Amino acid sequence: MPETPEQSATDRFDTVLIANRGEIAARIQRACRELGLKTVAICSEADRQAPYGKTADSFLCIGPSTAAKSYLNQDAILLAARLAGAGAIHPGYGFLSENAAFADAVEKAGLVFIGPTASSIAIMGDKISAKRAMMAAGVPCVPGPDTALPDDPATIERIALEIGYPVIIKAAGGGGGRGMRVVPKADVLHEAIALTREEARKAFGSPSLYMEKFLEHPRHIEIQVICDDHGNAVWLGHRDCSMQRRHQKVVEEAPAAGIAPDIIQPVGLACVQACLQIGYRGVGTFEFLYEDGAFYFIEMNTRLQVEHPVTELTSGVDIVQAQIRAAQGHVLDLTQGDVTCEGHSFECRINAEDPETFLPSAGVVTHLALPAGPGIRVDTHIHAGYKVSPYYDSLIAKLIVHAPTRAEAMARMREALAGTEVGGISTNIPFLRALFEDGAFARGETDIHYLEQWLKLRRAA
Ligand code: ADP
Repeated sequence: MPETPEQSATDRFDTVLIANRGEIAARIQRACRELGLKTVAICSEADRQAPYGKTADSFLCIGPSTAAKSYLNQDAILLAARLAGAGAIHPGYGFLSENAAFADAVEKAGLVFIGPTASSIAIMGDKISAKRAMMAAGVPCVPGPDTALPDDPATIERIALEIGYPVIIKAAGGGGGRGMRVVPKADVLHEAIALTREEARKAFGSPSLYMEKFLEHPRHIEIQVICDDHGNAVWLGHRDCSMQRRHQKVVEEAPAAGIAPDIIQPVGLACVQACLQIGYRGVGTFEFLYEDGAFYFIEMNTRLQVEHPVTELTSGVDIVQAQIRAAQGHVLDLTQGDVTCEGHSFECRINAEDPETFLPSAGVVTHLALPAGPGIRVDTHIHAGYKVSPYYDSLIAKLIVHAPTRAEAMARMREALAGTEVGGISTNIPFLRALFEDGAFARGETDIHYLEQWLKLRRAA
């Protein structure tokens, strides 16, 4: 008798190597264990003390502290997977999570990459081809051509005029908030293009640029999707990630406040349609700018995101488990009709950094108090005595709350922040406490520029 996908799925792998560090390594390990899977943790020399190493079935040091020689070292990770007998690799976020060549190398080594196929990553990793794919699937995009900018200055000027100033120049291979430049008017257009092209060549290895309308007061809204290998896809509601500093998210929430279901519904369905068209597998996020009641696609993240917990708390779906099950070949166990989002959730990113200057702060955590209670979740890998290393991202914990309404969730976050103490290093907790007292934020009257302006006003006061 032929095997059903369900029967063969569990055979795809029983051991997962987690190619990441910090809070997300701990989070993925928990999901694996709950699914009855064995885990292999890896570390650099700086992370030998990682607590998730002690609870893993195997723990291997794969290289020196610098990420390029450890968490980004593809050969070392593949060797560790072979030595430890892993059948799959979970890349987490950052590092190699959106590296199509790595996804390909993992599959060529006979292992399962817990994520989409290398070709989906490649299409979505290039912002121009992503925009083209989205337009073809009927997803609304920011006004501007879905082709790379040519070299001819006159043609570039004509494109900018057609879009209308201000425009934004973006690197096709850009990421992490880099490789973008706003052009307010025509006289600085060519200079902006030359600078961004050079930056793109150096940082992303490709000089390819594109141009689109610069939206002046948008909110950043995103849609979470989950797809299996059998032609099923659902969206799990939306998030607002407008609270950004230097294009980096600081506070996220689900759902995005004040967006009527009949406005977001067609966008969610278009995202699902796009996934089906490109044969997408696993979890992903479609990022949009939202201005004057309209949505404009900016990019897709083909991986698990830092802010996935706010969607987990509102949808009740364990996104990491669902992602692993999809990679195992299981049929998605929910349909769109099963997805209901309830209540409101906030996430604060707790960073080891100075709350005024935002400079990273490394050192030993001498004292740690974490909040607990109904509707409070903390995702972290740190403990008292943990040494925060200067080598990596400054995220040390995520504080997540859930409550029936947005106002109640804000109150819960205030309480949770009041109950969080990290001694021995500086953190952004004082800044987050002040932000949750802000009136405009409480009223939901913010856009992507709000946090920077709020910081400027605070500094001036
Ligand atoms: P990255 O891949 O570097 O994160 P994105 O394309 O997701 O880049 O954009 C990051 C942020 O830059 C957005 O959240 C938004 O704040 C700003 N941004 C990007 N495109 C535009 C645009 N067309 N108009 C206004 N702001 C933009």
